[in-house]
Amino acid sequence: MAQVYYYDIAMPVSPDRLFSYRSSQKVLRGCRVLVSLGNSFHTGIVWQRTKQPDPKLTYKSILEVVDEKPKISDNLLKLAEWMSKYYQCSLGQALSAMLPSAFNIQIQQQVKLIQKKQIPTSDGNPELIINELSKINWSDISALKQKLSMPATLFNEWLEKLEELNVIEIKRVFDAKIKKKIANFVIRKDVDDLPSLTSKQAEAWQIISQYKEPFLLREIVESVTRSVLKALENKGLVSIEPRELRDEEYQFKPARVKKEVTLTAEQNQAVKEIKKVISSNTFLPFLLFGITGSGKTEVYIEAIKQCLQENKTALMLVPEISLTPQMVERFFYAFGQEIAILHSHLNERQRWQQWKKINSGKSRIVIGARSAIFAPLGNIGIIIVDEEHETTYKQDKTPRYNGRDIAIVRARLSKSVVITGSATPSLESWQNVAQNKFRMLKLRQRPLEYELPKVQIIDMCDHKDPKILISQELRDKIQEKIEAKEQIILLQNRRGHSSFVQCISCGKLFICSNCDISLNFHSHHQELVCHFCGQKINLPRKCPDCGNYLFQFGAPGTQQIEKQLQLLFPQARILRMDSDSAHRRDSYDSMYERMQNGSVDILLGTQMIAKGLDFANVTLVGVVLADISLNVPDFRAAEKTFQLLTQVAGRSGRGQKPGEVIIQTYNPEHFAIQLAMQQDFEKFADKELKLRQILKYPPSQRMARILFTNPKEQYLREQLATIHPLLNKIKNYYDNSELTILGPVQAPMVRLQNSYRYHIIIKAASVQIISQVVNRLKENIKLSSSIKMSIDIDPYSLM
Ligand code: ADP
Ligand code: ZN
Repeated sequence: MAQVYYYDIAMPVSPDRLFSYRSSQKVLRGCRVLVSLGNSFHTGIVWQRTKQPDPKLTYKSILEVVDEKPKISDNLLKLAEWMSKYYQCSLGQALSAMLPSAFNIQIQQQVKLIQKKQIPTSDGNPELIINELSKINWSDISALKQKLSMPATLFNEWLEKLEELNVIEIKRVFDAKIKKKIANFVIRKDVDDLPSLTSKQAEAWQIISQYKEPFLLREIVESVTRSVLKALENKGLVSIEPRELRDEEYQFKPARVKKEVTLTAEQNQAVKEIKKVISSNTFLPFLLFGITGSGKTEVYIEAIKQCLQENKTALMLVPEISLTPQMVERFFYAFGQEIAILHSHLNERQRWQQWKKINSGKSRIVIGARSAIFAPLGNIGIIIVDEEHETTYKQDKTPRYNGRDIAIVRARLSKSVVITGSATPSLESWQNVAQNKFRMLKLRQRPLEYELPKVQIIDMCDHKDPKILISQELRDKIQEKIEAKEQIILLQNRRGHSSFVQCISCGKLFICSNCDISLNFHSHHQELVCHFCGQKINLPRKCPDCGNYLFQFGAPGTQQIEKQLQLLFPQARILRMDSDSAHRRDSYDSMYERMQNGSVDILLGTQMIAKGLDFANVTLVGVVLADISLNVPDFRAAEKTFQLLTQVAGRSGRGQKPGEVIIQTYNPEHFAIQLAMQQDFEKFADKELKLRQILKYPPSQRMARILFTNPKEQYLREQLATIHPLLNKIKNYYDNSELTILGPVQAPMVRLQNSYRYHIIIKAASVQIISQVVNRLKENIKLSSSIKMSIDIDPYSLM
């Protein structure tokens, strides 16, 4: 009898377990296979050979073995194991985050009748299927299912049975989602003696002779007709072959700034320490704490050069928003085509190409946003996480990982250096330095001795008219800079025109019918827009409840500021950048271009413009209202405000001319605003860490959030009421100082997209306690399956 092998397969589904299948083929760990589970097909990853197949069980067979060689390396398999334990997701979910979605297999099934046979019927009637199949040869299964309009479960059950009884044959055609693009190429043959040609053929031959390499047929369709080409083919001069068409890869623009820099003493010191550790092949995390403009990027570049010299590879994460042409240019100048870039605007095919380039060793440097942390690099020498405090490193769907934290684990698994860098580090990393888990490297100065900008706070409470959003002080400064032909960046961290619309007479507030949050007014199309689900309605002319025509508008967004600026500075060239104006990647690039060549006076925008931009001619940064991020019910509100203000202030004075910053606020005494003015991160961190300790918030304690959702609130409440005894039992296990469980209570956004939301917040003294508690909850909780439960470890949003 033929040998049978059994495998445990990881599948991208939520049950936290492996699934066993059999196959007559030997398959390696980390290879993809196609299997059926329930009524659907999945791409699974072979996790291991099944240790002890149970002889009493019947195992389904693997439908197709897709890979000969593993698609996921051993180190990444280990990383997936860590992710699954830490983030409480299944192995398959962790693995599916690692591969581009193009690696999912698509399947087409065809069925054919082999023999007409009498089938014993216990449930339903397979004759329907047999009769239909006797009319045709091969039939597409989904088409057949549609035609018969049988219940899907019954249909599938019968197909399975008929296949077993050898009545039908099922053929499964599978393909990676990415189909090769094929096009016709013209290949010129070498001939010694030219046969006689008609004048048209001779003309065509002349054109074709100019090409040294095979070329695309479509390049000459306008000058050479098909029949002439055919004649040349018959005479043995050319051949026409379909070949795989290569896509254009990510195109680098030639480097504009060919700037060689001499490292400062501080930069040199940092580079020296990092190089030493790279050469020692040990795991060590650094925090590169350097003020904005202190030249952190140059340090990264030097460290990467060291890796290449030692034949190692390098991986650098940057927030999506910082992956600007400017940034890429600097790396391209240093490393050329060895760089692979992974950002969210690549299509599936381009992403797959980059993946192959990395996997084959052609690219030894990867730069990319969050998911690039899973790039298939071998022999990693360094992992860099730039702007490590950025919340965009946290993924907001399962698996809810943080790219920065994964970077640290991946570096540990590959015994490499990891650098987290920021001017405003996360308090988590700051605490890691204090606890000697990270080694700190400091850059205190800007090279070339550009001064940090001078910061001034304007108390908006002194300004009587709340409709005036730009104070006299800020207005004068803007005027002054425009006259001096210098540039201005203005931050207003809210998009749209205003945050809500309310009827003046009856007080009706317009809220989203799906989400129970107020609709924002967008003046461009006179629309009310839900910033959560995107629902849009036209602004009614009068109040639907009372018929009054007068509305009151909520807090101002970028569109409203833009209008005021246009009135105040009619000659100024103003550019607005927010996610409404910048839905295309090239609008960001063109903003950069226009700022660079001086065709914009005032750049106004949301946090999009607060980070990473480096324009020498920007000498004024204005913050229209600093309080927006402060007034959010989030324990990180002060931290986020401090970061945003410090980052945006750092956009000013990056050239020879000194920079200025004006911050408008209703809370001038708030420590986050005061310390941002003094640009004193260390003082801020000390103060904020003490507060977190008192309130048992991260990083002083660890946190998890478990969210429960269901469209019916009453039902959700009833179901959740039943888990109190379980929660109490768990609480009794631990000391009060070790564990706090809050809830279940309504989440701050209680209804989103027609679902009610309740949550539990867990705070614990250690990661171990968090995972014990969540595990006990997962194992013992009994809720109806209609209630969706999602687990978020180290959550960023508690909304
Ligand atoms: P950061 O990432 O810390 O904000 P950057 O690396 O972007 O800072 O550097 C800010 C500016 O200073 C850039 O224009 C960079 O080219 C320049 N720069 C960095 N290091 C040096 C140096 N040693 N000498 C001259 N210019 C430098
Ligand atoms: Zn909504």
